[in-house]
Amino acid sequence: MSKVIGIDLGTTFSAIASLDDLGNPEVLASIEDNRKITASAVYLKDNEVIVGDKALNYLKDQSNNVILQTKREMENDVVYSTDEGKWVTDKDLVDAYTPAQVSSLILKKLKEYTSDVKKVVITVPAMFAEKARQATLDAAKIADLEVIELINEPTAAVLHYASLPGVEVGGRVMIFDLGGGTFDVTFAEVKNKKVDVMTSRGDKYLGGRDFDKEITKLMKKKYFDVHNVEIDIENNKEYIHKAEEVKKILSVKDKANIEITGPKGPQKIEITQEEFEESIQTYIEKIKMLIEEAMEASGMNPSRINQTLLVGGSTRMPIITKVLTQMMGKPPVKGVNVDEAVVCGAAIYAGLKTEKETLSDQQQEALKEVNLTDVCNFYMGTLAVITDNHTGRRVIANTIIIERDTKLPVSVTKRYTTIAEGQEELECNVTQSEGPEDNKEFVNIIHEEMLKLPKGRPANQPIDITYSYDESGKMHCMFTDVESGNSHEIELTPETTATLDDAKKQIEKISIE
Ligand code: AMP
Repeated sequence: MSKVIGIDLGTTFSAIASLDDLGNPEVLASIEDNRKITASAVYLKDNEVIVGDKALNYLKDQSNNVILQTKREMENDVVYSTDEGKWVTDKDLVDAYTPAQVSSLILKKLKEYTSDVKKVVITVPAMFAEKARQATLDAAKIADLEVIELINEPTAAVLHYASLPGVEVGGRVMIFDLGGGTFDVTFAEVKNKKVDVMTSRGDKYLGGRDFDKEITKLMKKKYFDVHNVEIDIENNKEYIHKAEEVKKILSVKDKANIEITGPKGPQKIEITQEEFEESIQTYIEKIKMLIEEAMEASGMNPSRINQTLLVGGSTRMPIITKVLTQMMGKPPVKGVNVDEAVVCGAAIYAGLKTEKETLSDQQQEALKEVNLTDVCNFYMGTLAVITDNHTGRRVIANTIIIERDTKLPVSVTKRYTTIAEGQEELECNVTQSEGPEDNKEFVNIIHEEMLKLPKGRPANQPIDITYSYDESGKMHCMFTDVESGNSHEIELTPETTATLDDAKKQIEKISIE
């Protein structure tokens, strides 16, 4: 029987959990080192692959072959070149790997921690764009995993918090999720094991790695102050690894002393917590702004929020507790393993979405009261010709079909019309934006396709556009020519099956250690 599995595919760490016989999530440990979190690091050389903490050992001598932070590239059209040691846009390179392929190697590794892993729930940041979600699904396909559903990370975490026996979570809660590469803040209403997400805001490029980078800048300055020579923090991945160590020390001590090696030999330096906190002020201000934005969007204020729940390794930094206590008027809830909350929630959700017959009686009992509703985290729309209110001219603008924060599942149909006499083609665009934009320059066009229309008709033929999210959180877009009844469903998957097959073959050639 295949197991009920949740996977947290993180920027810096990943984890896999299954539901035990009693219906409780259990994070599975690596067979090699018995650790429950695995570095999302991949060492790739010729046909050899090493995934996890061991890959980090190669940072010193073969750093070009170590791929880090793949998750940050999931929405980009890039490949990793081991020759250049970075992500590049030249798709014709041989022996180069897409973000989906590299992620598939991490998924394959996690799969090894237990047997019979076939169907899984995978977590993604709330602010992950459609393209990055699709790339995550591609990664799963390459790793031979069937994805029951993707779930937003903060949503998974609150599901875990709500199901914990020892922690009293209820009322309106804020889920503060600061990981290695991304930041999400979510407001939800929790009643027993029922979770209703109200809104999420976030930044998919704000996380622990950015704080590490600021520490490397401090390291560079301090080395320069002594030797008048700069260390190469941009191209030597080892410095960033060292910076992470410093950051972790500064979570428990007010200063960290380390030795760094540079062109003039090794040098002992000291970095204080105060210096570090000052260096990340811009990020802290951004975090505060996003919390304010999310509060405004959900009509909340600190006095209406019962609890702040922490998720993600970076919430261990003392400055986070300080800022949240100050903003919310009370300290965040402590005592839950912030590294495991997301993956545990994913396993619970996998249980909810698995056919009942495959669950044991105890598992069914444990999940009986668990319920979840999530929202759409973007405005989804299409480009259309409209009359500009100010100039009276006809212009192409973005029009919104599904509003942000609409409860899922949802299906919305809007009527448009053709614009020209004898129009034989319709340009179908699907757009995504964080704000209610009408300017086409400020939206992401996630799909463009031409649709053929019947010949010889006058202008103003009705076209119905329906956007819907199915139960699995996947978006469907249907363009229907009302008069002829011809409808066309747009396939949002970026990789065709043929490309995916090739991607899979390339990955199958290399062996994982
Ligand atoms: P996650 O994506 O939730 O696994 O979080 C990973 C991030 O948490 C990485 O950037 C880590 O460096 C960071 N992290 C883990 N432990 C600590 C700590 N003790 N202090 C500060 N940051 C930490």
